[in-house]
Parts: sequence; structure tokens; C-alpha cells
Amino acid sequence: MERYEIPLVPGPVSIPPAVLAAYAVDYGSADMEDEFFGLYASCEAGLQRLLATENAVTIQSGEGMLALWGALKSVLRPGDRVLALSTGLFGTGIGEMAQRCGAQAEIVDFGHDGVIDADVVQDAARRIRPRLITAVHCETPSGVLNPLAAVGAICREVDALFYVDFVASAGGAPVPVDAWHIDLGLLGSQKALSLMPDLSMISVSERAWAAAAETDYPGYDALQPWRTALADRYFPYTPNWHALAGLRVALDALFDEGLDAVYQRHTEAAALCRTRLHELNVRLFPRDEAYSSPTVTTAYVPDGWTWSDLDAALRSRGMVVGGNYGPLAERTFRIGHMGYQADVDLVARGMDVLAGVIG
Ligand SMILES: *Cc1c(COP(=O)(O)O)cnc(C)c1O
Repeated sequence: MERYEIPLVPGPVSIPPAVLAAYAVDYGSADMEDEFFGLYASCEAGLQRLLATENAVTIQSGEGMLALWGALKSVLRPGDRVLALSTGLFGTGIGEMAQRCGAQAEIVDFGHDGVIDADVVQDAARRIRPRLITAVHCETPSGVLNPLAAVGAICREVDALFYVDFVASAGGAPVPVDAWHIDLGLLGSQKALSLMPDLSMISVSERAWAAAAETDYPGYDALQPWRTALADRYFPYTPNWHALAGLRVALDALFDEGLDAVYQRHTEAAALCRTRLHELNVRLFPRDEAYSSPTVTTAYVPDGWTWSDLDAALRSRGMVVGGNYGPLAERTFRIGHMGYQADVDLVARGMDVLAGVIG
């Protein structure tokens, strides 16, 4: 298979050698060994530290979508009211998923070039009185990082659970779960954690556990069995020891570097990316850079280029970036500077290649 020297896709991101090495070990049977239970407990503690929460954090086999579906199915009952906040593909998609779960979901759409506006949320929340309010922290297709602290407070006011997809931000931007009153916080492995797409992690508040007990959803992606899995040493299926070993390596690396330094590295990589794009007269999407994500930058395909020609030209020079979806497909492309790819030298080399191609 062809490998690219300059990987800048916004997930799955490239995997550091130390994580790959953690997979190259024959661990044995996860559900029988004390060592595995200790590893699971230490990974959960690490995730709690990363997410600044005292809530339990489940570590399930799957990737981000399993977290998105499992959390919805675990707490919703047919007819429940849901308020889904959208600034793009994932925000709207979560609302539609809630509808598929039988909920009455109202999608409030701030536009894929907008951000969540807390005043609008407050009005809608008071009117709808939902069981669940859903939001996306980093809306990856548009490169927006939504402000969420005020939304969490609104959820408490109307006694709604707060469901947040931070798959594309956690590990690259602070996500203080407890301070933002997040009841169900959703994380996948293949974005800023730079792991394989094989784990989904969910922070679950006491309120969310209570809702899950009411809903009593059974299934591979069900949350409920995880409440007691570690204490009982009884997991709902054979856990992925290799993936948790990789997670432990990733968390250690974050804490060794220091979370402030990690976030600073992301901020600098993103700033460099945007500065170089401006210099090349490549228009950014959306225009309001105050809300641009430190993990991914979305830009318009330059005039005179199609996405597929640009993609081919970059690939021929060893660089691969992300295309886009939905209304942003073909018109825009995405540069993923998250996790292992949040590296100013890597981004600088990528921008040199882009300059050579379009300059
Ligand atoms: C990547 C991502 C997911 C998981 O989606 P996949 O396409 O399966 O990787 C969920 N939410 C957001 C915001 C993401 O960026």
C-alpha cells in the first residue's frame, strides 16, 4: 500500500510507533487476567483526568459511532423529546439518529457556517422541555469548535440530559465534562488520541445512569452493563486488550507532555495552518475564525481547481488531506492537525506542498 509522508487527514489520524508496538504483544484472555482489569481501571482513571470528570468513563469496543448510537439508544424511550443542536453533518445526523430511535427530535440548525447560540437554545429548551439535548463540540466537516458551557447550564435548568459528541476535540482541546454539566460525553479512538478506530469511550453521569436504568436498552452498544462491569469483573463481551494497551500509551504520552502543552501544540499547529492558507489566498471556512477548531481546519478548494484534481496533485507529492461531505463536499477540503498530526513541522511541510501545487 502507498504511504504518504505528510498525513493530514482529520481522522483516522496517523498512529505513533509506541502505540503500534503495544498491539504487537500477545496478551492473553482479557476477561480472565487481573492485569487486564488493572489496565482497564487505569485507562478509565486517565480518561477521567483528561476529561476533568468524576463521572465513570466506559471503554467499549467499536469506534466513535458506537458511542453516538449506544448513548442515544441507552437513554431514549419512544416518544421522548430531544433537542438536537446542529452546526453541520454530525449535529443533524445525531438528531436524525434520535428520530430513528423513536424519539421526537427537533433539530435546531445554526447553519454549517454558524455556531451554537445559547440564547436560541434556551428558548427552544424552555419550549420543548426535552429529555435530552445533543450537541457536537468540534463539528469536523466545518472545522468549528462550538461554545458549550452555557448550553450545559441550560440543560440543568430544564432538567435535560446533556449529550456531547467530543470525538474530534477531546485530546486536542479542553473538554471539562463536569464544569460543562455533560451527562453523556462521547469519544472515539481515531481522532486526537491517535489510536486505531477500535474504541469508544463515554463519560456517564449519575443522571445518565438513572436514565439508562429506566430505558433498559439491551444490545452490544448498551451502556448499562458497563456500570458494574469492572466491579463485577464481568464484561458484556471480550474486551480488546490490545486497544486498551494502546490507549494507556496514548494517555501516558499526553500526561507526560502536560495537557496545557498538548493544547498549546494544537493551537499553534492550527494557527500556522490558517496563517499559511491566508498567505496562499485560500479562503477559510467558516469565515469567523474565533470559532475555528484547534484540531481541524476547513478551507475552500482554490479557484481553478476541483477537489479531485487538488487531491491527486497533493497525493502525487506525498500529502493527503480530507475531502468533505454533504453541502461542503467538492467545494471545501480539510486539514487534520489533531493528535500525532498536531505538529507545526508537519503542518509547515504540508503547507509548503500546497504552496508548490497551487502557487
Ligand atoms: C469522526 C467523528 C465521529 C465518528 O465518525 P466516523 O466517521 O465513524 O469516524 C463522530 N463525530 C465527530 C464529530 C467526528 O468527527
